[in-house]
Amino acid sequence: MITFTTESLQKYDTVYLGGQHAFERALIENYTCQLISRASSWQKFVDGLNLGAFNSNLTDTKVEWRKRLAMAFIKYKLVEFDLCIGSSSVSIPSSAREFDIWMWDQYPRLLSSFMYLWSNHKTLIKSCGSNCSQCIVIDGHQKCRRRVCRAKNVQVSTEEFESLTVGCCRTPSLGSRFCELHQVLDEKNVTAESLTKQKPNKKQKMMKKIIMGRYRQHGFGATNCRTIKQRSESYIKRCSRSFGILAGVTNCKIVITFSEIFRSETLREIISLLCSTIRASNYNFPKCGVYDDGCHLVEFIRNHYGQDLKRTSASTSLYETKFSVDRTHFKGHVGRWCRANMNPYKNEMLNGINTQAAEQLFSWVKNYANILSSLGWRRMPIYLLLLFHYKNLERMSIRPTHVFNIASSVPFTPTVSLAHAADTEQVSKYKVSSFEIRNFT
Ligand SMILES: [Zn+2]
Ligand SMILES: [Zn+2]
Ligand SMILES: [Zn+2]
Repeated sequence: MITFTTESLQKYDTVYLGGQHAFERALIENYTCQLISRASSWQKFVDGLNLGAFNSNLTDTKVEWRKRLAMAFIKYKLVEFDLCIGSSSVSIPSSAREFDIWMWDQYPRLLSSFMYLWSNHKTLIKSCGSNCSQCIVIDGHQKCRRRVCRAKNVQVSTEEFESLTVGCCRTPSLGSRFCELHQVLDEKNVTAESLTKQKPNKKQKMMKKIIMGRYRQHGFGATNCRTIKQRSESYIKRCSRSFGILAGVTNCKIVITFSEIFRSETLREIISLLCSTIRASNYNFPKCGVYDDGCHLVEFIRNHYGQDLKRTSASTSLYETKFSVDRTHFKGHVGRWCRANMNPYKNEMLNGINTQAAEQLFSWVKNYANILSSLGWRRMPIYLLLLFHYKNLERMSIRPTHVFNIASSVPFTPTVSLAHAADTEQVSKYKVSSFEIRNFT
């Protein structure tokens, strides 16, 4: 273990983070600046470094070097982040593999702290102006799709939902469609499934299209808007990639929440993320929200609240949040109920408010799609957290070394990351079963 305090992290010009290399702090800082400002200049920056000066191993390729620097960035900045939220010291394992496990263990705490800090930036840092934190803009982004395990039937229970199907977040093992945890499923089912499965012919495909179309038209009667984002169950089952990122950005362009999605944007996952955010923010959530499929979100909340969407302080808070469809997408919403209730032009709380905040953010994030999808399942969410944190700091003109003493105020929110909560359950389940197999067969 290597231990850091605020003083020790900044004391020397070089910093040792484990492994074979020590890094110049200036290099990491420079990397961060380039990274936050524009991904294109950052790539040039990394590629332009004199490789020989930093490592003698000539077999290293540019890609490997890029990854190594990304890893140093993650380690250094994660320690800095942990100190920034008020931890008195941070101890990290020196081996890369153990570090990965360590940071994944810490992820719910770090993510809750992120949500708490930025949801409360108006009071903890400063107000961005009269409309600060008034509205949350939710948007999905499908560019950062990485390979994920085919175990889609992974469930998790949260404060609001008895059971939520989220899918496995791990990267498949080499030569397999399943991760190391779910290898059992690979042997049993997949061969049988792929043998019996035939490609549907054209006629079947047409029929399916017609049936799906009808389903879309009549299945969600109240709003009549054909904006459902959820993909068909069979498509999700076959899909070997994640579905990108979902993020919530305030109208003052501060990212307050995000999540990776593994099964297409389902309303349940969005609701769950928002409820977690409300809890982690200590109930300081914007009074209104904007989402391009806002009508179905509101319809779902109204129809399920008090039933399979349990009544909690967080879900009640969400129920009371006034949602609208965003301005650019509203013309596509034709349902009568939607025209009357979800009109962003008629929501007074949205006067003078930037409802494009999330789209603007994602046009920045898409530059990182390549590096993000190459990072591996434990590193990607952490890298995103750091990207968003440093982007937020830049926006508020706060130095990264600033210390907010919030660590003790952050509410405990164990299900803040659905992927993490589900994975923890899967680990205990499959560890137990492989133990049983070894001992009883
Ligand atoms: Zn603000
Ligand atoms: Zn898996
Ligand atoms: Zn609508």
